[in-house]
Amino acid sequence: MIPESALQKFRASLRGLSFCPGEPGYDAARTVPNAMIDRRPAVIARCAGPADVIASVRFAREHDILVSVRGGGHSVAGKSVCDGGLMIDLSAMKGIRVDPHGHRVRAEAGLKLGEFDRETQAFGLATTLGVVPGTGISGLTLGGGFGNLMGKYGLALDNVIGVDVVTADGHLLTANDFENEDLFWGVRGSSGNLGIVTSLEYRLHELGPVLGGAVFYPVAKTREVLHFCREYAETIPDELVIQGGAFSLPDGAQVFGVAICYCGTSLSEGEKVLKPLRQFGQPLADIIQVMGYVQVQSLFEPFFPNGRYTYVKSNFMRTLSDEAIDVMAEYAGKSPSPYTFAPFIEHWHGAVSRVGVTDTAFPHRDHSYNFLVWSSWESPADSAKNVEWTRQCWEAMHPFLVAGSYVNYVSDEGDTFARAAYGPNYDRLVALKNKYDPTNFFRMNHNVKPTQATPAANSA
Ligand SMILES: Cc1cc2nc3c(=O)[nH]c(=O)nc-3n(C[C@H](O)[C@H](O)[C@H](O)COP(=O)(O)OP(=O)(O)OC[C@H]3O[C@@H](n4cnc5c(N)ncnc54)[C@H](O)[C@@H]3O)c2cc1C
Repeated sequence: MIPESALQKFRASLRGLSFCPGEPGYDAARTVPNAMIDRRPAVIARCAGPADVIASVRFAREHDILVSVRGGGHSVAGKSVCDGGLMIDLSAMKGIRVDPHGHRVRAEAGLKLGEFDRETQAFGLATTLGVVPGTGISGLTLGGGFGNLMGKYGLALDNVIGVDVVTADGHLLTANDFENEDLFWGVRGSSGNLGIVTSLEYRLHELGPVLGGAVFYPVAKTREVLHFCREYAETIPDELVIQGGAFSLPDGAQVFGVAICYCGTSLSEGEKVLKPLRQFGQPLADIIQVMGYVQVQSLFEPFFPNGRYTYVKSNFMRTLSDEAIDVMAEYAGKSPSPYTFAPFIEHWHGAVSRVGVTDTAFPHRDHSYNFLVWSSWESPADSAKNVEWTRQCWEAMHPFLVAGSYVNYVSDEGDTFARAAYGPNYDRLVALKNKYDPTNFFRMNHNVKPTQATPAANSA
């Protein structure tokens, strides 16, 4: 229980808005895109800036309150919203300043990636973020950040050159290569375990029009398309990122789609690189064309409206073997929901794999593919069968998967999840937790437990 007078004093101290149960705006503020998540914080602080974040952390510490941190709210596990505690909502913090000459941008943590891309593209610049514009830049980047530019420029977190972080003791630290270097290392990959990032500075790259779009095949051709993609992926340059899987088009057609983005400066070279894909088999449709980067970034948007029930399983792949392809072909098109993307793979190459496993806290550098079962449906009555199907598909793929997962792509996790997800970097992250968050104040995340966490009310 939070003492009422303390709560009112805290709320009055904020520059931003705050919401308590029963008040106008409370339900909208606690709702996240995944309808599976239905939690009720005791109070939501929609911070206007770092001072509100600091005040929120100090208030929660003083009253021993569970804390969750919301960037864009897209965590499929719903980690950004808590029951009964304080939700520190960064979604109103949307300041952004592009330095077009220095090829840098300073962005506040509440920006969504579509907003970020629009501002940077106004200067002909961009950096790697995800592929759905409504996703928050901060949760995405702090966990990794896979996207259309990753073959050429690395993950989103590989492009971060500095962050401002409010740590568990309620102080704001700057972390970069020269200041608080250990925190900077850990923030890049540990998904909010070490503090609340209030703004991020990214390196930007010149980027004009790209080749974007997809080729769609009948889902019955999944096996042949995957065999082709495996060979093709061996030949492609860093400029080309490919991902593909089984899903349904808006007209109901079940397809295996291969989505691409070619970001090289010579689009005629890109056309040559894409020729084998565009000439393979007898596609149902080929929508690859020259387009602006903001447009390619919005292609997936209609497939991910807010408010659907979503459950995701994902691991990196050991190998895309003939046997793995057989299993994927067996499950393609069999999901109980037309809104599911599964089985789905993201090809992994180029700049992302040239960063060392221990250079940042994100360790997954030497795999060739990431595998996903991304299930979505519209009615809670369908939850049991969709969750069950997701697990079956994932279990069937188990022999071909490594233990480690991308923290941003998991709905639930076992006791061993964090160790496998952070891999060889886990022990170093424990040491950083001991230093920056010894009571595990920040635990609504894919949690690294400090060695001697004092049990707090703050239990997730
Ligand atoms: C439709 C959809 C598409 C996606 N596409 C991609 C993709 O293309 N590439 C990709 O890599 N991922 C993708 N993801 C996964 C995405 O990276 C994660 O969902 C990520 O958590 C989203 O960040 P967020 O800020 O929106 O999430 P939130 O739910 O707000 O936060 C996620 C986690 O990060 C923590 N966090 C958020 N902001 C901060 C902060 N400023 N400081 C400290 N901790 C913070 C939260 O506490 C929480 O634990 C997608 C997800 C969805 C739902």
